[in-house]
Amino acid sequence: MNENVYDTIIIGSGPAGLTAAIYNVRADLKTIVLAGEQPGGQLTITTAVDNWPGFPLGIGGTKLMMDMQKQVTNLGVEIKNATVSRISNFKLQSANFKIELIDKSELLAKAVILATGAKAKWIGLPNEKEMIGKGVSGCATCDGFFFRDKVVTVVGGGDTACEDAVFLAKFASKVYVVHRREEFRAAAIEQKKVFGNPKIEVLWNSEIKELNPPDPAVAGSPSLDKEGGDKLRAVKIFNNKTNEEKIMPTDGLFVAIGHTPATEFVADLVNRDPEGFVVIGENKDHPMMTSMAGIFAAGDATTINRDFRQAIAAAGDGCKAGLDAESWLGSQSL
Ligand SMILES: Cc1cc2nc3c(=O)[nH]c(=O)nc-3n(C[C@H](O)[C@H](O)[C@H](O)COP(=O)(O)OP(=O)(O)OC[C@H]3O[C@@H](n4cnc5c(N)ncnc54)[C@H](O)[C@@H]3O)c2cc1C
Repeated sequence: MNENVYDTIIIGSGPAGLTAAIYNVRADLKTIVLAGEQPGGQLTITTAVDNWPGFPLGIGGTKLMMDMQKQVTNLGVEIKNATVSRISNFKLQSANFKIELIDKSELLAKAVILATGAKAKWIGLPNEKEMIGKGVSGCATCDGFFFRDKVVTVVGGGDTACEDAVFLAKFASKVYVVHRREEFRAAAIEQKKVFGNPKIEVLWNSEIKELNPPDPAVAGSPSLDKEGGDKLRAVKIFNNKTNEEKIMPTDGLFVAIGHTPATEFVADLVNRDPEGFVVIGENKDHPMMTSMAGIFAAGDATTINRDFRQAIAAAGDGCKAGLDAESWLGSQSL
């Protein structure tokens, strides 16, 4: 047998991909995980994960993912630091798919699990990425809890921004929603919840231009005195209608302007929704299978998890995709 032929090739090494790998290797399938440019996935850029069960005091995101990788390799799965550029349908040497890597090498697979995740879109401010975990967040469900009695700002105007604002208002003393247009895109019911919440104030026609702008007035902001200087203290807001700028103290900035799934490389192969999330759930025998027989998907890259975007949900999907791929492989005469 060609040593490059795998029963399952799992693309992505976040919670979805690594959990799928655990199930596949324990089903005695020859399995490899291709880790991509972010080994361990999105959780590796967060500090504290408080909602992964089993850790009474929470766990660091990188620690959780490094431990998950160790568990997977201890079980006998190969994890390769490689990024996939293309998958093609390929019937040879009992394989169904050819996986092309950006270094031009190739692997063959009987089944493929796509677990490539989705990246939060960021505003694009110079120090924005450095401030993640220091007040800047792409996930209100994950980090809202840390902002009890603090002032937070949400950026965006869609469903997620409105839902995030309402969710954050449970903890925060004040929630500003900064939106660059004059009206929300969000569903009417979500807008109603925002407008009806006395803690939430919407700043229309407004854009964030700077984080922690140098201004002595900011010294009085709520968190600076208590927690020191490297955290978010304030944002500079630009009103695109009046051209006015103002500095607004804030402890947290939640960027809710959408997510981009890493699925462009399979655009010609499997059905995706208009935003690029891989469609699953349409095959009644194989709920985790995409429109292409033998290609499964799990986690934030899929239509099923796109509205949840939580590690435990991605891991749960990874488990299902692993089991579904195993069951499909068992039904094939390869
Ligand atoms: C800052 C931050 C904090 C968060 N905090 C929490 C939290 O506290 N609790 C929680 O439950 N969730 C949290 N989340 C959300 C959570 O991280 C995601 O829901 C989860 O990681 C999704 O898992 P996934 O496996 O689907 O994708 P990801 O974790 O995004 O992993 C995708 C993987 O695919 C790989 N990949 C992509 N393209 C390719 C390619 N072409 N070839 C090979 N590999 C590829 C990447 O390298 C990566 O390894 C947070 C997210 C962020 C950004």
